[in-house]
Amino acid sequence: TLKNKTAVVTGSTSGIGLAIARALAKEGASIVLNGFGPAEEIEKVRAEIESGFGVKAIYSPADMAKPDEVAGMIRLAEDTFGTVDILVNNAGIQFVSPVEDFPIEKWDQIIAINLSSAFHTIRAALPGMKARKWGRIINTASAHSLVASPFKSAYVAAKHGIAGLTKTVALEAATFGVTVNCISPGYVWTPLVEKQIPDTMKARNMTKEQVINDVLLEAQPTKQFVTADQVAALAVYLCSDAASQITGANLSMDGGWTAK
Ligand code: NAD
Repeated sequence: TLKNKTAVVTGSTSGIGLAIARALAKEGASIVLNGFGPAEEIEKVRAEIESGFGVKAIYSPADMAKPDEVAGMIRLAEDTFGTVDILVNNAGIQFVSPVEDFPIEKWDQIIAINLSSAFHTIRAALPGMKARKWGRIINTASAHSLVASPFKSAYVAAKHGIAGLTKTVALEAATFGVTVNCISPGYVWTPLVEKQIPDTMKARNMTKEQVINDVLLEAQPTKQFVTADQVAALAVYLCSDAASQITGANLSMDGGWTAK
């Protein structure tokens, strides 16, 4: 059980992050939601987490591209709940384009949100975890932290970066009861994947069906999408005492993609 623990989950208004926030709430953790979306939808999700799981949940609108807002989110969590025990760096965006046409501002935005925000949250939250001698940091990486695909230069660079950050902080935190790991899903059917289909159709000159079957599911030997709930179950496991010796790991959940 994660009763009396507080979890901050970045990018948790949708997709994998929302599934992780719900799964941690189910175990009894207080939740700090973060991410974008219509205010009334976010409030509905927040209230449902509180009533459904009998925990406290608050929402931080912090933009993960802005270091001061990232630090402010950790401060809000500590001010509200006293501690941040579980930190899930999950916010992420994608952009698909040949590298020579890749917009410079998109590169900077992806590095900021998908990589640098984790540095800023860890910097702010790790001192408290070390002082209390317990913490769990889980980064949503990707199969693209291990292998590449064409037209995703910024995303693949950021995800390889998050894998390196994970290992480094794991070593620094190892004697403090703080584990630091990343989960590397293959394709999970979320808005992030759905939204990249039109650009992939353009970049590869394909139909939507061809993109789904010949690009996305082609990568995964199981020919199935991973589900957000499956990723969330692994995150819950990483928070358990049984996982206290798993640190610095990059755990794949990709239907066999990176075995090829
Ligand atoms: P999603 O689009 O459903 O969710 C992304 C979340 O991040 C949303 O809550 C969004 O509001 C939030 N977000 C985006 N920009 C933000 C910002 N600047 N500040 C704060 N929040 C921001 O996508 P998802 O598929 O659930 O992706 C979650 C994570 O999983 C990402 O890091 C993604 O790279 C990773 N991932 C996804 C897949 C997949 O196939 N869907 C595979 C591997 C890894």
